[in-house]
This record gives sequence, C-alpha cells and structure tokens, in this order.
Amino acid sequence: MNVVLFGPPGAGKGTQAKELIKKYNIPHISTGDILRANVRDGTELGKEAKGYMDRGELVPDSVLIGLIRNRLNEDDCEDGYLLDGYPRTIPQADALDGILREIGKPLDVVINIDVSDDKLVERLSGRRTCPNCGESYHVVFNSPEKQGICNVCGSQLYQRDDDREEVIRQRLTVYNQKTKPLIDYYDKAGILVNIDGSNNVDKVFQAVSGVMDKYK
Ligand code: ADP
Ligand code: ADP
Ligand code: ZN
Repeated sequence: MNVVLFGPPGAGKGTQAKELIKKYNIPHISTGDILRANVRDGTELGKEAKGYMDRGELVPDSVLIGLIRNRLNEDDCEDGYLLDGYPRTIPQADALDGILREIGKPLDVVINIDVSDDKLVERLSGRRTCPNCGESYHVVFNSPEKQGICNVCGSQLYQRDDDREEVIRQRLTVYNQKTKPLIDYYDKAGILVNIDGSNNVDKVFQAVSGVMDKYK
C-alpha cells in the first residue's frame, strides 16, 4: 500500500501515522522526523536544514528530493510506505512521481486531512514532542499518561522551536502558498481523498483507515 498522508502543519498526520503503521505494517516516512534527527545529530544535512526549519520555511527541494529517493529505495519499503510531510511543493511531487516510476511503486492514494486554521494554531501551540521517538502529544487534547513524559519510550517531552506563535503563522503561510496547490494536483491525478480532520483522534483514525482498507 503506497500512501501519502497530506495536510497542513498540525493536522494530525504524525499522530495518525504512528497508529496506522501498526495496523498496516508499512514504514512511516516523516521528512520532518528525519530532518530533526539530523539536526540533533549535527550531520551535514542537519546543519543545512536547521536555519530553514527554525524560520518556518521549507528546506530546499533538491535536499528533500535526494533524501526521499534514498529512503524509498530502502528494503522496508518493499511492501509499501506511508509518506508524511512529503511532498510539500509541486517540484517535490513531480520528482516523487519519477522516483516511484523508477522503483515501480506508484501512489495508490493521497489522503488529505482537512483542518481549519484556528484549530491548527491551537493544536500546534499545545503540541509536545518526544525528541527520541517523534511521538507527539497535546497539553489538552492528547496528554501523556505521565506529565511531560513520552508514553512510548519514557523520554522527556519538549516544545519544538517552530511550534511558537510567530513561526506557526509563517508555516501556515508557507503551506498556503507552496503546499496547498498539491491538493488540486492530486485531485486532477484522480487519487485524492479528503478527510475531515476536525474530529477527535479516534474518529479521524476510523476515517483514514476506511480509506486505506481499500488498498490492503
Ligand atoms: P502534524 O504531523 O500534521 O503536524 P501532529 O500529529 O503532530 O500533526 O498533531 C499536531 C498536534 O495536534 C499534536 O499536539 C497532537 O497531539 C494534536 N492532535 C492530533 N490529532 C488531533 C485531533 N484529532 N484532535 C485534537 N488534537 C489533535
Ligand atoms: P509540521 O507537519 O508540524 O509542519 P514537519 O515535522 O513535517 O512539521 O516539518 C518541520 C519542518 O521541516 C518544516 O517546517 C520544514 O522546514 C522542514 N520540512 C519537512 N518536510 C519538508 C519537505 N518535504 N520540504 C521542505 N521542508 C520540509
Ligand atoms: Zn518517545
């Protein structure tokens, strides 16, 4: 099953992906998680990406395209993949199309999780993230069992630098300008499905699973 989980920052892609990969047994490929791991480890890629990420801008397409090409060629993608946070621009989508043609794993479906701007700001500003496993929580809507501690791996949660009000606004502007046009792009390709992401985590999971079940 070859799936893109699409939607604005804070829509709930990561939250859903963590559960979906258990159900469908395909790898979760989050470009944000990969980039943050590289920033944390101080790699060349991390050094190049950090400034853009801190400002709420997109890391250049050439960097992301190389990264995603390598990742999709790994063995665990043999039976499919769940992409989260990629593509974010038309050139990234065009490049993806070429890569997937090369490896013979074309997209089945692009699931767009639709959430209003007000809700996105509310979700992002209350988000807490695990630096170790990438799991995300919310201080009100999805709090961990032990305050400030990751349920999955026990690490201390933190607030991402880009989850502060000014940077959130910038990321939503960038989304509207550069990423949102992909909704039309994939709609024209006939593989877009829209999901109402304003409901609670369980309801959204039911809706997304309902779509993915068709491609099992
Ligand atoms: P994305 O990966 O799309 O940027 P996340 O999955 O990290 O988004 O979710 C953003 C924030 O919203 C997190 O704090 C998460 O706990 C919370 N969240 C996710 N889904 C929902 C939901 N359906 N209702 C309320 N809060 C949610
Ligand atoms: P969110 O879903 O909360 O916006 P992500 O974790 O997906 O955040 O991405 C965090 C940051 O990493 C982005 O603001 C951007 O700087 C960078 N990034 C992640 N994926 C991409 C991508 N496909 N293209 C360009 N930049 C990206
Ligand atoms: Zn964790």
